Amino acid sequence: MDFNYIAELLFPNVTMTEEELEAKYPVRNLKEGAIVSRMAPSPTGFVHLGNLVQGITSERLCHQSGGTLFLRVEDTDQKREVAGAVEILIDTLKYYNINFDEGATIEGDNGIYAPYRQRQRKDIYHVYAKRLVKEGKAYPCFCTEDELAEMHEQQEKLKENFGYYGKWAKWRDRTNEEIETELKAGKPWVLRFRSTGSIENKIKFTDYIKGNLEVTENDIDHVLLKSDGIPTYHFAHAVDDHLMRTTHVVRGDEWLSTLPFHIQLFSALGFRLPKYLHIGPLMKMDGESKRKLSKRKDPELALSYYKQEGYPAQSLYEYILTILNSNYEDWRRANPTASTEEFKFSYKKMNPAGSLFDGAKLLDVSKNVISRMSAEDVYNGSTEWAGEYDKELYSALTRNPEYTKAIFSIGRGGKNPRKDIALWSEVRSYVDLFYDELFKVQDEYSDKFSKNDIKITLQEFTKVFDIADDSNTWFEKIKDIADMLGYASDMRAYKQNPEAYKGNVSDISMFIRLAVTGKLNSPDMYSVMQILGYETVIKRVNEMIKSL
Ligand code: GLU
Repeated sequence: MDFNYIAELLFPNVTMTEEELEAKYPVRNLKEGAIVSRMAPSPTGFVHLGNLVQGITSERLCHQSGGTLFLRVEDTDQKREVAGAVEILIDTLKYYNINFDEGATIEGDNGIYAPYRQRQRKDIYHVYAKRLVKEGKAYPCFCTEDELAEMHEQQEKLKENFGYYGKWAKWRDRTNEEIETELKAGKPWVLRFRSTGSIENKIKFTDYIKGNLEVTENDIDHVLLKSDGIPTYHFAHAVDDHLMRTTHVVRGDEWLSTLPFHIQLFSALGFRLPKYLHIGPLMKMDGESKRKLSKRKDPELALSYYKQEGYPAQSLYEYILTILNSNYEDWRRANPTASTEEFKFSYKKMNPAGSLFDGAKLLDVSKNVISRMSAEDVYNGSTEWAGEYDKELYSALTRNPEYTKAIFSIGRGGKNPRKDIALWSEVRSYVDLFYDELFKVQDEYSDKFSKNDIKITLQEFTKVFDIADDSNTWFEKIKDIADMLGYASDMRAYKQNPEAYKGNVSDISMFIRLAVTGKLNSPDMYSVMQILGYETVIKRVNEMIKSL
């Protein structure tokens, strides 16, 4: 059979050669062991946690090894594409600090392996498609949707395996004349792979995450090019990862089922197979059992959710490192101020079955991340969030940036920083006491305290409060009020004989705290008053006295 004849009929316009492509996209000049990987998401408009898991894994592996990470947009499925999706994708990955060395950017392509958007690579795929046809490794198929549906029905009836293979592969062994007739009639066609595999055979394969696997050979004549000449994922994966010199493919394990086909395809094309890392799915507890996170049921699968809720990007990044490498948390504890890049990430520690996603743990990680930030970073993070999601808070925070940064400085730095904020959306309730327009008395004095004692405490406080006092002098004055009212100023004495007192100095502090902050709990009172200033403190205390 003269396959050349059909190859020319199918691809009359191929002008490039494989040699030219090999020269245009040269083998990368990188040091031994350097990993080249990519993120290859489809622009569906939905960027999810799985993308981030895959992105962080490949980013760490590439950059830790002195290699290269690039972004390729897999836009071969036009039906699923949403307007603006590529921009959303690029912006989201940037927000989460996945830094690409090359690939698609908002401004266009960056790098010599361009184009990085698959639809623009059509001509390249055709060079290889034509060669496969010439070698008898691929052929056109003119089956209609209806014919394929009917085949499926038949297979169901006869209890045979589904798919286009063996005797079911209607166009596999047609003559040139038959093919030419259809082509001349303008019938649409897809290009199929002529599989030589058998499901009787097993192949051994080592995946870097899943370990040693034994998979069944592929006998399906999968589609390589769709009727519009655009490749399927499989064909684009082989051609692009070869020409872009990818050494490691990090992807979701939903691709494991087509791996036998990919192995066949690389071999048919004469390409070296990359190393594969198939990542297990993210799961969550649903009652007693685990299940995969689902787009439909779990809003927390979408990365947009976290931005809206006010999680700093860094919190998610660190949380994902925590679930991927179980030693990350200990490392972070021992190295609280180190950059995440200093952590030695290892794919060997990844769970082949996938990771469990735990929202409570994420919040905890986030609290730690924010507690380690400088006041400046907290200011920047919270105002950026508030600018988009809480305008009233935004205008309060930005009115006097130095004042706001002073608030965020309370209890920051040092060995045990305060951990009051897990989300930017919690900043409002943390800072509201510092801004008159947000301030409200939210808590109440317990009935067990005498109103009169509270009143006297507040009145005395207004008499002695001096903003110039240092914290010791300030506290001595509060202790004096305690002594005066029969509350213990010395905690040890109180503990030895609590019956002898009406209460202790922390109750007296609380009387003042509630008046000044509106809450029973607040950051360090002395620092709070220093920021609020004399007039505001006195005004709030007087208002409380009036209301009692
Ligand atoms: N577009 C594919 C996906 O989003 C890419 C898989 C791969 O990384 O090869 O699942």
